[in-house]
Amino acid sequence: MAKKLIIIGGGFAGLNLAKHIDKKMWDVSIIDRNNYHSFPPLFYQVASSGLEPASISFPLRRELNGRRYRGVDYHMGAVRIIDVATQTVSTQYEMLHYDTLVIAAGTTNNYFGIADLEKHVFTLKSVPEAIRCRNEVLDRLERAAMCTDPERRRSLLTFVVVGGGPAGVEIAGALGEMKRYVIKREYRNISPDEVRVIIVEGTDALLRAMGPRSGRDALEGLRQLCVDVQLGKTMKSYADRRLTFSDGSSIDTDTVIWTAGVTGVSFEFAGATISPGHGNRLVTDAFNRVAGTDNVYAIGDIALMSTAQYPHGHPQVAQVALQQGRNLADNLNHPERELRAFEYRDKGTMATIGRNRAVVDMGHMHMSGRAAWWTWLFVHLMSILGMRNRTVVLINWMWNYFTFSTGLRLIMRPRRYPLREHWAE
Ligand SMILES: Cc1cc2nc3c(=O)[nH]c(=O)nc-3n(C[C@H](O)[C@H](O)[C@H](O)COP(=O)(O)OP(=O)(O)OC[C@H]3O[C@@H](n4cnc5c(N)ncnc54)[C@H](O)[C@@H]3O)c2cc1C
Repeated sequence: MAKKLIIIGGGFAGLNLAKHIDKKMWDVSIIDRNNYHSFPPLFYQVASSGLEPASISFPLRRELNGRRYRGVDYHMGAVRIIDVATQTVSTQYEMLHYDTLVIAAGTTNNYFGIADLEKHVFTLKSVPEAIRCRNEVLDRLERAAMCTDPERRRSLLTFVVVGGGPAGVEIAGALGEMKRYVIKREYRNISPDEVRVIIVEGTDALLRAMGPRSGRDALEGLRQLCVDVQLGKTMKSYADRRLTFSDGSSIDTDTVIWTAGVTGVSFEFAGATISPGHGNRLVTDAFNRVAGTDNVYAIGDIALMSTAQYPHGHPQVAQVALQQGRNLADNLNHPERELRAFEYRDKGTMATIGRNRAVVDMGHMHMSGRAAWWTWLFVHLMSILGMRNRTVVLINWMWNYFTFSTGLRLIMRPRRYPLREHWAE
């Protein structure tokens, strides 16, 4: 009889494992709190009204119905408790038994203990967060268009991005483009010069996970888009619309977009002592087995595997997640064979700054500008799940490229039900 394999998380790592696992040997279930797989590298485009949410999200049930996944089951739910002694996982809806468990739950925002930050900043770690960010950016512009008080208007039109990694650079570039191309055309009451886009980074360079040339090119590209890049600034607090920094300086703003850090998703473990490592990631051996367990594995962003080349763990990028999912599937499919240690093959990193502006590092090769942008476009397009989504994204990008405009600048907020109660509030 097939053994029960439970995978927590249908992201890059979990889904790639499910694709390559032998379904005759394993009875596989994926548990995910969302009923869709999404594509984080393009969340910033949802947040900046460049793409619709559905074009970078894919229903898990539809994907699992495909030939390569046939037999894999989906359960909706957020796993809270993992009992290693009874070999069970519990969500808010049910408890499931496993023979082998794979934790591929990724990461969540890290606020570094800054009080109440979670309530006041906008984040980009999921599709709903990106939609919220889009709504709030558009809301600020609409309110500023009506505002006559110069101080309030300045605060409404100041957009601060905290964190100079790829996500921060990409959203800052997209806001810079909005200021340059959209405000002038669509907001007659706002001058583009009134809009301030600021990116703040604690260290002395942007894109530190990439080579120094990429950081310099990103800085140059953002400055060309009139984005104010402030390096070496550590944020201390954000309250009453005032962002303060360790050096005593401050910025008054209604909108802070937080991309400064991530931390592993937390679980309550029972039946064994499992102590997460740096960044709340689960410490594993070279085969992705969680330290202190026999049949629990962690892959992707949540896994902390220390190797000679990566003593502090692998970079938290899609390629690592995909490759760990594949390697673990091969090991689980061949118990008779000696286990293969995971070895990361770095295929390169890239980030886009705006139209015709991107940076790409592949081994010793560095590209920037238009060629890098087309490379970025092609790689991201091919990585999106589903032909429909790829086609929609391509049409959207081409449309935006030639018209400088999208029809997606919509403020669509979820309503609380029942409506009658909402009206009475
Ligand atoms: C804004 C942004 C931009 C990025 N840009 C890039 C880029 O350009 N290039 C690149 O290589 N990488 C990029 N990354 C990183 C990349 O997205 C991650 O490395 C990759 O998604 C990790 O895959 P994963 O499967 O480990 O986790 P994820 O893809 O995060 O998947 C985790 C899954 O687990 C589910 N889950 C979480 N907790 C639970 C729970 N308790 N119970 C059930 N389900 C749960 C989630 O819903 C999700 O579906 C970016 C990330 C972000 C946030």
